[in-house]
Amino acid sequence: MDWDPDAFGPPDDPAAPPPPFDGATTPVAASVPGLAATARDFTGRDPRDVLSEVYGYDAFRGDQGDIVAHVVGGGDAVVLMPTGGGKSVTYQVPALVRPGTGLVVSPLIALMHDQVDALVANGVRAAYLNSTQTPGERAAVEQAYLAGTLDLLYVAPERLNGAQTLGLLARGRLSVIAIDEAHCVSQWGHDFRPDYLALGDLADRFPGVPRMALTATATPATASEIVERLRLPRARRFVASFDRPNIQYRIAPKVEPRKQLVEFIRSVRQAQGPDDAAPAGIVYALSRKSVEQTAAYLSTQGIDALPYHAGLDSSVRAANQSRFLRDDGVVMVATIAFGMGIDKPDVRFVAHIDLPKSVEGYYQETGRAGRDGEPAVAWMAYGLGDVVQQRRMIDQSPGDRAYKMRLGQHLDAMLGLCETVSCRRQNLLDYFGEPSGTCGNCDTCLEPPETWDGQVAAQKLLSTIVRLQRERGQSFGAGHLIDILRGARTERITQQGHDALATYGIGADLTDQDWRSVIRQLLARGLLVARGDYGTLALTEASGGVLRGETAVPLRRDTLGRSGSGPRVRKAAAAESVDAGDRDLFEALRSWRAEQAREQGVPAYIVFGDATLRALAASRPASLADLDGITGIGAKKREAYGDRILAVVAAH
Ligand code: ADP
Ligand code: ZN
Repeated sequence: MDWDPDAFGPPDDPAAPPPPFDGATTPVAASVPGLAATARDFTGRDPRDVLSEVYGYDAFRGDQGDIVAHVVGGGDAVVLMPTGGGKSVTYQVPALVRPGTGLVVSPLIALMHDQVDALVANGVRAAYLNSTQTPGERAAVEQAYLAGTLDLLYVAPERLNGAQTLGLLARGRLSVIAIDEAHCVSQWGHDFRPDYLALGDLADRFPGVPRMALTATATPATASEIVERLRLPRARRFVASFDRPNIQYRIAPKVEPRKQLVEFIRSVRQAQGPDDAAPAGIVYALSRKSVEQTAAYLSTQGIDALPYHAGLDSSVRAANQSRFLRDDGVVMVATIAFGMGIDKPDVRFVAHIDLPKSVEGYYQETGRAGRDGEPAVAWMAYGLGDVVQQRRMIDQSPGDRAYKMRLGQHLDAMLGLCETVSCRRQNLLDYFGEPSGTCGNCDTCLEPPETWDGQVAAQKLLSTIVRLQRERGQSFGAGHLIDILRGARTERITQQGHDALATYGIGADLTDQDWRSVIRQLLARGLLVARGDYGTLALTEASGGVLRGETAVPLRRDTLGRSGSGPRVRKAAAAESVDAGDRDLFEALRSWRAEQAREQGVPAYIVFGDATLRALAASRPASLADLDGITGIGAKKREAYGDRILAVVAAH
């Protein structure tokens, strides 16, 4: 089997890939004492002051303020917020304001490195403990924790379950415990991590320390599991809307996935405007082989694409990830091993060329697009082969009946999203228990699909299957059945005498592609089932109703090649939303930022986000005081970059 077993990314072990980048701001332990000397102490301060001084933000967003107040007051919290919603602030600010160190449990090393980098760039005393450090580096972090000079400490769950780490934590003072990606505790979910189960014990070990569980993936069932297993019965629940209005959802019938993918990427680029850098994006494929082939194909088409999967050497993986983070317009072709903990805010598209195994997975993967709030597209190509393959994988998976049933339910929900004739977003939000109206920003809203009455077509197909079974004891996969229906003269048909069947040629009114669409939709609805290695098709209990004419079969007409069906990334990306008069300055700031990022060996967004550059271009600051109130410039960044920003503006 060619699946990627490392679906979630490496745990905290020595074989894990090295940190995505290194250099000046990578806050390994060596830099901790230095930080301790310069950083300010925010204990007891007003959270709003911390927000503006540290992060340079004017106000809390959505529930952030309420969550912070609740936790600062000592309360437990369960925070369900979509990616890009701003979860980090909700535990970082309480960690700064309450006495002691905030402990952040985070499942992936890359995520810790990214977050700690961003914090240190803002002047926060943050560090992590993990296996990428030397014993000396770890010891320095431990010293800083015990001395009370750390604001935030990031640790992986498997490390936290060791007696040594727990002993260390007990000897210092914790201000808050934040469990990130808390859905990993759920066995129902797709990211289950056994190490998360033990985190419930933190309730006994650190009574009196407020605990938070945060996730961007939560059905009501997962939320209940989080509360139970992490032992947060009294936690207040904060549920933000899971809508990501800036993401446009598109699902296309799969014909030639690689060609379709190239067209899609080009159309995103076009929609963005010619002045902009090529869009950065992630392409998800199921197998390692498909990842490598697709990346190679995109490269031949002039697209800057790199592969990423768990089978690549860890140095190659780290190098590719680092290029994706640092350079403009890189397309990462990856298995789902990639993405957890990738905070890159300006990913303009996420494409799936294979069907994800669950709606949760799909939502999480597509959620990596457009974290900056700018328009982005989630595109997927989906076909009959996906349905057959996934059903087969479920049949063949080790595990008991209940487990397979659960996988089947996940797949059914995913298929429902693919085949819906109404709003995709509505379907998606409904899955997460959130009622909504139609969105106007998905393919079915923008180009409403036609439906057609597929009952007769379904009957032709089903009766062909029945006849082959009854009269000859044979069963076949989609390809041969379509040949029979369309009256093809293949060798197999002649040899088997299938041209003598009563249904031979009765489906010539539909194209091969139409028939694949019919079969795919019947499979998705459980009116047909695919079995075995060859995906031979058979009837289900529900098929009888169709044959007897009792079950209506409205089908979605695939819209391949219909005009106007390209993505509409309304003026995406930075430069487009800058006033024409400010454009030159914006570009100058952008190249200055790129230079800074290169010098320090960090991604550009660690220096400043696009929103900050836009605000600078519009306000043209002339003095350090003018930098106050510009989003994303806190005290530390004003100190570090203020004069140089003013120089860039003045030179203009
Ligand atoms: P999450 O962890 O929920 O995916 P993040 O904490 O990474 O989201 O925040 C997403 C983006 O929103 C980041 O770029 C962050 O800088 C920005 N952000 C968060 N809170 C605020 C705020 N109050 N004001 C302005 N920007 C914010
Ligand atoms: Zn819609």
